Amino acid sequence: MYGGLNMIYFDYTADTPPDQRVLEEYIRAAQIFANPNSKHSAGAEAANEISRSISLMAKLLDVRPGEMILTSGASEANNLAVKGLTFTDRRRGKHIVSTFLEHSSVSGALTFLQEQGWEIDIVNVEPDGTIDLEHLRSLLREDTVLCAVCAVDSELGTVQPIGQIAEILKDYPDCRFHVDATQAVGKTKIDISCADTASFAPHKFYGLKGSGILYKREEIVLEPLIHGGASTTIYRSGTPDTASAAAAAKALEIAECEFEERLAYVTNINRILRDEIQKIPGLVINSPAHAVPHILNVSSTGIKGSQMQALLNEKGICISVKSACSVPNTPSRPVMAITHDRRRALSSWRISLSHLTTEQDIEALIKALQEITEHEVEK
Ligand code: PLP
Repeated sequence: MYGGLNMIYFDYTADTPPDQRVLEEYIRAAQIFANPNSKHSAGAEAANEISRSISLMAKLLDVRPGEMILTSGASEANNLAVKGLTFTDRRRGKHIVSTFLEHSSVSGALTFLQEQGWEIDIVNVEPDGTIDLEHLRSLLREDTVLCAVCAVDSELGTVQPIGQIAEILKDYPDCRFHVDATQAVGKTKIDISCADTASFAPHKFYGLKGSGILYKREEIVLEPLIHGGASTTIYRSGTPDTASAAAAAKALEIAECEFEERLAYVTNINRILRDEIQKIPGLVINSPAHAVPHILNVSSTGIKGSQMQALLNEKGICISVKSACSVPNTPSRPVMAITHDRRRALSSWRISLSHLTTEQDIEALIKALQEITEHEVEK
């Protein structure tokens, strides 16, 4: 049961239900209500609470507290990084390298920059979804100021070799490296310190919406998106949300503590699901074998992704077509990038799994998919 609806939920990549412990932490910290920027004792108490949350997150991620910027979500964090880095470096160069695997909050920010005169090159991806490192090398130039690559993409779940990309970029000291780690945190181990900036949001790992984090390596300078005043950092003004920060830290702490156990469980149900889907005629799996097990992208011959979503919804099952923020009824860019098959990209959809997914949920999904595909074949 989700929010009073009797639905079976397979859309954890879009959002996860908040953990009870996170909600309790939010309520506790919300009592410390004063403005953390106020220069009196009540403000200092709130500021201390924020510092405690930031320090805990930094410790869990093995970075410095001064490197964490609180935002309203991963979309803001991505925009702050992409626009902030390039505006700062605009006199050094206007060339950017990125991928077709990015979330719209990265690709949209890049399109905005392109309209302002920046030049964007897209790196090819290999059939297994990882970026072609030789192609990346060939695209980099003296005036390349940004390379933006997601650690895990939200449609296929492909894990990118972030460490190797960072190594390649060492030959280009003027090129900043932004990593969208939104689908990586809680799903795979990632060392964000190899990037100049990295974004994520706790609502993807059983935390709350409306909160996000941008990691920014200490010596990197960013043009802020929001001008006016300083807060916990000069890079993001406005009254910081004490309760959201505490909830984010709690969600991250739980995600780290329970990581191995959750991953083992999801890996097992992913294997069961992959085996069953492969037996259903008309369904083909797009997610590469090395993708995070939480994301399984599938195409259905003759059935558009949006149609599959509606048919499953009628049977009480929530899945997703692309990421929730992307433009509807257009082919999936990540599926296009790995298959070069427009039909397959248009008929793709995404199942996402969690440690909360039960074997009964999987059985119900398989049964529904068998019924839908049989019915479509008979038509
Ligand atoms: N980046 C990726 C890879 C995502 O999957 C998402 C959300 O789906 C976002 C960024 C945006 O996150 P938010 O909703 O917190 O702005």
